[in-house]
Amino acid sequence: MNQKIVGKDKRDWIRAFPLIEKIIETEEVVWINPEKENFSPESGVIKKEEIVDAEERLERFAPFIMRSFPETAASGGLIESPLLEISQMKKRLMKMSKEEIKGRLLLKGDHALPIAGSIKARGGIYEVLKIAESLALSEGMISTDDDYGMLQEDRFRQFFSNYSIAVGSTGNLGLSIGIISATLGFQVTVHMSSDAKQWKKDLLKRKGVQVREYPSDYSQAVEMGRQQCGEDERCFFIDDEHSRDLFLGYAVAPMRLEKQLKEMDVRVDEDHPLFVYLPCGVGGGPGGIAYSLKMLYGEHVQCFFAEPTHSPSMLLGVMTGKHDAISVGDFGIDNRTDADGLAVGRPSSFVGKTVGPYLTGIYTVEDQMLYKLLYNLYQTEEIKLEPSALAGMYGPVQIARNGWFSANYSAEQLQNSTHIVWATGGSLVPDEIMESYLQKGNV
Ligand SMILES: *Cc1c(COP(=O)(O)O)cnc(C)c1O
Repeated sequence: MNQKIVGKDKRDWIRAFPLIEKIIETEEVVWINPEKENFSPESGVIKKEEIVDAEERLERFAPFIMRSFPETAASGGLIESPLLEISQMKKRLMKMSKEEIKGRLLLKGDHALPIAGSIKARGGIYEVLKIAESLALSEGMISTDDDYGMLQEDRFRQFFSNYSIAVGSTGNLGLSIGIISATLGFQVTVHMSSDAKQWKKDLLKRKGVQVREYPSDYSQAVEMGRQQCGEDERCFFIDDEHSRDLFLGYAVAPMRLEKQLKEMDVRVDEDHPLFVYLPCGVGGGPGGIAYSLKMLYGEHVQCFFAEPTHSPSMLLGVMTGKHDAISVGDFGIDNRTDADGLAVGRPSSFVGKTVGPYLTGIYTVEDQMLYKLLYNLYQTEEIKLEPSALAGMYGPVQIARNGWFSANYSAEQLQNSTHIVWATGGSLVPDEIMESYLQKGNV
């Protein structure tokens, strides 16, 4: 094949980055970032104040969220998830892999986030709330000191119905944007790729959301959404590939996680390293979280992204430095995976450039392994996740296998370490579909 890929032959790409050969074969790989930079607050393009501002905005909306979604009453209208110790799963992982995992294994349960049942309840909902707030503020209908519970009133729904929201999605972002937008009264259209799960489309339609489907992949759905929205000044397009607000919504998570870690007596410092494993699609979710983690803990936290072997887009983008100029399709990789939340062929360049330098590594996982982990997590901890959400669970195994832990830390540091596997979705999966997932993993 002599076709050029961003100016180079495939053979030259492989010569420059030998790992690409295995990536093309869709073999599982571990890439450790050879040019990792230390994070310093000055180096970041996103400032702490912006994340604090996002956190405060979510607090202003808490009364509205609490009234609209009674399941958030316990958290006072904050959209938050538990941090759980999964020691039975840790034993199981070691048995399955014959690798030793030192330190505590925790699961951040974003599958249980209210409203959308996935990590998208952070970024997606935040961005729509921000749009609603700025519209209502500029119209003089509210001030930031008001009780935002009143946004439930009919006059606000009437007002928001003059505006529309559009988004392109593989599924979960559509769920989150669709549900919150419809609740506020916006007209909302979700442009979905063919790999989006039918139950996600059905659920949205039941909520009064317009769903458009495209036979091609996610990038196409995004493009269509962008185009249709672009001509209408009352339309807001939620841009998963470039949005700073989505990123900020995700970046709030570590601020709250910090408290949960303290409550669980988890220390994070030189002698107590923290390892975090984040499933990655286009990059906004894991990117916002990793960025904010680095801001909090600097070099005491090490972040790894996880992608399906058939959609290693962030890996290719960050490793080659070509970001969104390169796609998995350029290398003949098909971007077909059951991990629909991660089925992205071209990564966000915004995230790749903003967070890539601070990532410790990126690894890939086969779909069948996701199912196997899904089944074993349910067996050991009775936690049900969707396939995408298991990508992080393979991290402690793969990084141990790679030898990176022992090459970089003493036995004592590792004994004192904590691993957080970010579980990103699953609580809205219908029972019969979950049953089929469990069966696929029980082999
Ligand atoms: C969207 C999603 C991710 C990844 O988030 P990105 O912002 O697309 O990188 C991970 N897991 C699940 C379940 C998701 O829906």
